[in-house]
Amino acid sequence: MRQRLCILGSTGSIGTNTLDVAARHPDRFEVVALSAHSRVDDLLAQCRQWRPRWAAMSDVDAAQRLAVAVRAEGLPTEVLAGPQALVALAGHDDVDSVMAAVVGAAGLPACMAAARAGKRLLLANKEALVVGGAQFIAAVREGGAQLLPIDSEHSAIFQCLPEDRSTWAQRIDHIVLTASGGPFRQADPLSLRDVTPEQACAHPNWVMGRKISVDSATMMNKALEVIEARWLFDLAPSQVKVVIHPQSIIHSMVICRDQSVLAQLGTPDMRVPIAYGLSFPERIASGASALDFLGLKSLTFEAPERARFPGLFLAWEALEGPHGSTAVLNAANEEAVAAFLSRRLRFTDIHDVVARTLELEVPRLSLSLDVPVEALLALDEQARRRAREIIARLN
Ligand code: NAD
Ligand code: MG
Repeated sequence: MRQRLCILGSTGSIGTNTLDVAARHPDRFEVVALSAHSRVDDLLAQCRQWRPRWAAMSDVDAAQRLAVAVRAEGLPTEVLAGPQALVALAGHDDVDSVMAAVVGAAGLPACMAAARAGKRLLLANKEALVVGGAQFIAAVREGGAQLLPIDSEHSAIFQCLPEDRSTWAQRIDHIVLTASGGPFRQADPLSLRDVTPEQACAHPNWVMGRKISVDSATMMNKALEVIEARWLFDLAPSQVKVVIHPQSIIHSMVICRDQSVLAQLGTPDMRVPIAYGLSFPERIASGASALDFLGLKSLTFEAPERARFPGLFLAWEALEGPHGSTAVLNAANEEAVAAFLSRRLRFTDIHDVVARTLELEVPRLSLSLDVPVEALLALDEQARRRAREIIARLN
């Protein structure tokens, strides 16, 4: 039987790459559900092409406009509205696999629903795991879900490890996540004050959504990935290390107990980790071009400097902090990046907003380790309010 796919965030960079891979294998995949936030035209075009059973829009007004258009064109798709629609689809009996490609903590409730319903859960939405942490992993375990990493670094680590998870702890000394260093790796730190959203989103190696592009420029993306790796592979924070590798050819590495190093390499193309998540434990064509070894000039490595990328180092601090610290980190960063993208905050102030929010909110944390995920979402909201106050004061 074909795998019935629900793609949450189908109009984004990961969503469209997922559809690109699925289109190469119509014998394997059936797209039954799509979702987007507010871009009606993009989702309508996908409904025409894929004729899914459901299309959901988290923005209710947008959903109404989509419903009118879908009816006018006589498409077979039922349109659902509001954030709850994503939760309903993620846990639906007629869905086998959920691609979680929403950006931000907004994707957490749907991820929890997929986890609890025991789905095959393809996780691109790293913020959901950064906020949900132990609760997210417990839901995966209790629901019997299969959690497959889509982030290229985590897919690389996953590809280097055997299928039997019970052997991982014994084998791994530590892991090294590679980072490109983003567009400002060599820029004069003093020149970063006046960086525009366009400059920050011009990534040297990857084409991605705007939020993750800004995160790559500050290296907060790698901080989120350190936290993501801690949970995906059940590692101590000190077992997760980061090295800058500007060519983005080595996608990450496992350093084994015997000092053997396992790495996964390839051209930088998200369709590779997406195809692996879709087909695991098999391998299918992804559409990516072959790695041309003879065309490679050199593979180089640098240590990330604290002065240039202070946000990166908050990952380990938040992981060692009280329960909920990583949710505060993520919320403050989402607010700061949104303010930067709408030109209400300087690029260099993103870090100050995150660091200040952590300073004010972390000492107030007193969550027990087994709080329901709703408490983490309430904390997310509180940290956002604090971050917005700080942003307003900076203006
Ligand atoms: P994007 O901005 O291109 O797309 C985001 C998608 O989510 C869109 O379909 C949008 O409609 C939807 N969306 C936005 N806000 C929403 C909300 N509040 N509720 C419901 N849906 C909403 O982002 P992207 O680059 O595709 O990234 C998606 C996720 O994948 C992020 O968590 C990102 O960190 C992760 N990721 C992306 C890449 C990449 O190459 N793009 C690589 C690794 C990880
Ligand atoms: Mg990544």
